[in-house]
Amino acid sequence: QDGQREKKISEQNKELSQPAIFIPVDRLPEIQEARLKLPVLAEEQVIMEAVRENPCVVICGETGSGKTTQVPQFLYEAGYASGSGIIGITEPRRVAAVSMSHRVAKEMNLSTRVVSYQIRYEGNVTDETKIKFMTDGVLLKEIQKDFLLQRYTVIIIDEAHERSVYTDILIGLLSRIVPLRNKRGMPLRLLVMSATLRVEDFTENLKLFRTPPPVIKVDARQFPVTIHFNKRTPLEDYTGEAFHKTCKIHRMLPPGGILVFLTGQVEVNTLCRKLRKAFPFRKGNTNTGEDEEADTSEAMRKFKKAKQKKTVSLPRIDLDNYSALPVDEGDEDREAGIGDEEDEGSDLDIGDDPADTEEKADPSIPLYVLPLYSLLAPEQQAKVFRPPPPGTRLCVVATNVAETSLTIPGIKYVVDCGRVKKRFYDRVTGVSSFKVTWTSQASANQRAGRAGRTEPGHCYRLYSSAVFGDFSLFSEAEITCRPVEDLVLQMKDLNIDKVVNFPFPTPPSAEALVAAEQLLISLGALKEPPRTGSVKEMERARLSCPITPLGRAMASFPVAPRYAKMLALGKQQDCLPYVIAVVAAMTVREIFEDLDRPTHNEDESSKLTQRRARLTQMRRLWAGQGASLLLGDLMVMLGAVGACEFAGCTPKFCEENGLRYKAMVEIRKLRGQLTNAVNTVCPEVGVFVDPKMTPPTEHQVICLRQIVLAGLGDHLARRVHAEDVLDPKWKNGYKTPLMDDPVFIHPTSALFKKMPEFIVYQEIMETTKMYMRGVSAVEAEWVPQLLPQYCHFGSPLESPSPWFCSSTGTVKCHRPSTFFRVGWQLPAVEM
Ligand code: ADP
Ligand code: MG
Repeated sequence: QDGQREKKISEQNKELSQPAIFIPVDRLPEIQEARLKLPVLAEEQVIMEAVRENPCVVICGETGSGKTTQVPQFLYEAGYASGSGIIGITEPRRVAAVSMSHRVAKEMNLSTRVVSYQIRYEGNVTDETKIKFMTDGVLLKEIQKDFLLQRYTVIIIDEAHERSVYTDILIGLLSRIVPLRNKRGMPLRLLVMSATLRVEDFTENLKLFRTPPPVIKVDARQFPVTIHFNKRTPLEDYTGEAFHKTCKIHRMLPPGGILVFLTGQVEVNTLCRKLRKAFPFRKGNTNTGEDEEADTSEAMRKFKKAKQKKTVSLPRIDLDNYSALPVDEGDEDREAGIGDEEDEGSDLDIGDDPADTEEKADPSIPLYVLPLYSLLAPEQQAKVFRPPPPGTRLCVVATNVAETSLTIPGIKYVVDCGRVKKRFYDRVTGVSSFKVTWTSQASANQRAGRAGRTEPGHCYRLYSSAVFGDFSLFSEAEITCRPVEDLVLQMKDLNIDKVVNFPFPTPPSAEALVAAEQLLISLGALKEPPRTGSVKEMERARLSCPITPLGRAMASFPVAPRYAKMLALGKQQDCLPYVIAVVAAMTVREIFEDLDRPTHNEDESSKLTQRRARLTQMRRLWAGQGASLLLGDLMVMLGAVGACEFAGCTPKFCEENGLRYKAMVEIRKLRGQLTNAVNTVCPEVGVFVDPKMTPPTEHQVICLRQIVLAGLGDHLARRVHAEDVLDPKWKNGYKTPLMDDPVFIHPTSALFKKMPEFIVYQEIMETTKMYMRGVSAVEAEWVPQLLPQYCHFGSPLESPSPWFCSSTGTVKCHRPSTFFRVGWQLPAVEM
C-alpha cells in the first residue's frame, strides 16, 4: 500500500512541477469570442505562473471579470486535472455552484460528467469529473473523510469576500492542509478568489510558508457608473420608491436592462407584480403548475384514516439507546454538506408596500420583469441569463444573490434600496430575528458596479449620500454573528479539540464558543470535562472537550446538533421515519406559505381572508386531536409532509394547501439523505423511508415528544399563570431558563389555545413579541428523566412537577430515588 501511495505522490509531484502541459479545449467560436473580452483573460499568464510557484495565490477582481468561469479553465488547460487529480471550486451559494458548473461545461464544450457540481441535496459528479463545483459546506464534509483532500490537485475558494462561515473555516483548515500535502511531496495548490480588495483578513492565515501569498488584481475594465443619490431622507417604503424609480427609468431613459436590489422574496414578488401590471407583457407569465390532479380532501381523508394502534402501555424512550453509533471511521457514503444556508432570510413579518400607487405608466414598451432570489426554482433563475424577448426591456428584481454570485448580462441601470435583510442572534438566549438594515459601502458599490459591465451605466440609490457615509465600510464576517455549535461539532469530529486555538480568519466570540461547547456537552456529543483542578485548568478543560461516539454519529448527520440528537434516538418504537420527516421539515426553511401576505385591493383582500381561513383550518386538521395535538407544530409539519407525499407532492397540492412546493421537494430529498446517513452509520437499523408514511400511532407520538424533548432540552419553557404574577406583561407568557422576559406561543401555532404547562420550542423569533416557533408539549415528569443535566434535584417534594425555584434560581426536580445536582442556572422568577 505504501508503495502505491509513493507512486501516486511522485506522479502528482511531476504533474505540478513540470511546465504546463497544454490540454486543448474545443470551444465554440462564439464562446471563444466572448471569453476573450473578459478582463481575467489578460492575466492568464500571470495567474498561472503565480500558481506554479506558490502554494497559495489570491485573485481579486470585480464581479463579472471572469474569475469563476475562466480560472478553472486555465487550470484545466495547464494540466492540473490531467492525472488522477481534480480541480475543486467552492461557492458559498448553491445557486452559484449549480449554474457555474453548467456554464463552464458549456463554455468548454464538455459534458456535465466532466464539469460537475455537488451541493447539499444533489450533484452530478462521476468518475470522469475533472472540475467540480461545490458549496463550501460540501468540501468541509469531504475534509472529514480525507483530511489531506488527496483527490484534489487544486482547491479554489470562490467568493471569499462573502466571508461565509464555511469559507472562513476552510481557509483556516487549508492553511494547515496545504503545508502538510507539500511536506508529503504531493503538493496541493490553493486559490482564493474575492470580489473586493479587502483580503488582509485572510492573507494573514495564508502565509503558509512565512511569506504572504501573491495577490493578483484583475483589472475591472469597468465602464463608468454615475451614482445618483436620493435627496430626501430615506423612506421606509423603499419598495414603493423602487417602483417609482423603475417606472421613471423605463419611461424616460434609453434602452438597457434594469436591476433592482431589494431585501427579500416577498418584496421582490410584490414589486414584480406591480411592474408587470404597470407595463404588461403578454407572452410570458404563464402558469406552470399544471401537473397531475390530486384530490386533496380524499388524500387527507385517507391519510387520517390509516390505522391507529391501541395504546398498550405508556411508552418511554431510553436515552442510551441510540440508533446510530459509528461502525467505523471514514465510511465512504457519508453525506456531504452541513446546512449550507440560503442567502437571504425568510420573509417573516416584513411589511412592504401598503398601497398601490397611482403611477401613470406608458405601457407601450413592455417591461420583461423577472424575479431573482435563492428560493426561486432553478428554471426560473436561469431565465435572467437569456436575452429578453425582442422589443422589451429586461428588468430583474433581485435580492443580494445578484450582488456578486451571478452576473446578469445587459444591465445598464441599477436601483439600490441600500438595505439588506439579516438574521440577528442573541448570543446568550439564541433568540433570532430578521432585520432589514443598511448594507455596507462595499456591498453598495458592488451593486452599483453591476450597471457598468457592457457600457457606461447609472446607479440610483434610494438614500442620501449622508446616509451612505454612515454605512460600515465592509460587511461583517458571518461567523461573528451566528451560533456556532454545528461548526464546533464538525471541528471536533476533525479532532480539532481546542477550537479556541483554531486559525479562524475572524474568530467567533469566546461566549459563542463556550455556549456551543456547553450545548454539545449537554447533548452528549462531547465528553464532560472533569470538575477537578484549579479554576483555570477547569476552564481550559471546558474548552477542549473531546468528541464522544454519539458526537461522531451526530456529526455525520447533515443537520444541526439538536436535530442530530433526535435522529440518534429515533429508532426506538419505530419512530425513525417520523423523526426523519420532522427533522427534515424543521431544517428546511419555511415550509408553509406566509399567510400574512400583503394585499393590494379589496377584491384580493377578501379572497385572501377566505384563503387564510381555509389554510388555518387545514393546519388544524394536520395537528390532529388528543395525543397527536400535543406534538403541536411538529405534528402539523409531519401531517403536512405526510399529506403532501400522499397526494404525490404536486405543485397543485402545495398551492392549494399553502405549502411551499420547493420546500416540500427539499424535504423529500433531505429525508432520503438522512435515511442514507442513518443506514450508513448504523446498518443494522435498516430504516426504509416510505414517502407515504402512515400517521404515527398515539404510542409513537408520545415517544416522538420525548425524542424532541431530548434534542431541544435547552429550549424548555414553562407557562406562567396569570394569578402567579402581578406584571400584566406576563399574561399568557412562558418562562424560559435564560430569559428575564416572557416568551409567547404564536397565534398560528397549533398549541396557541391549549397553552400546555411545559413546552419545547424550535426557536424564538422576535417580531412584534418574542414568539416561539415550532412548539411541542412535554410532560413535566419527563424533564428529570430525560434532561437530568439541566435539572437541580432537591429533597423529595409533594409535587412531582419540576418548577423554577425563586430562591435558588434553578429548575427544581424531584425524581424518585435519585437525587443529584447538575447546575442549570436559572434566573429567579416570581411565581
Ligand atoms: P466573476 O466570477 O469574476 O464574477 P464570472 O466568471 O462569473 O465572473 O462571469 C464572467 C462572464 O460570464 C459574465 O460577465 C457573464 O456575462 C458571463 N456569464 C456567466 N454565467 C453565464 C451564464 N449562465 N450565461 C451567460 N453568460 C454567463
Ligand atoms: Mg464569480
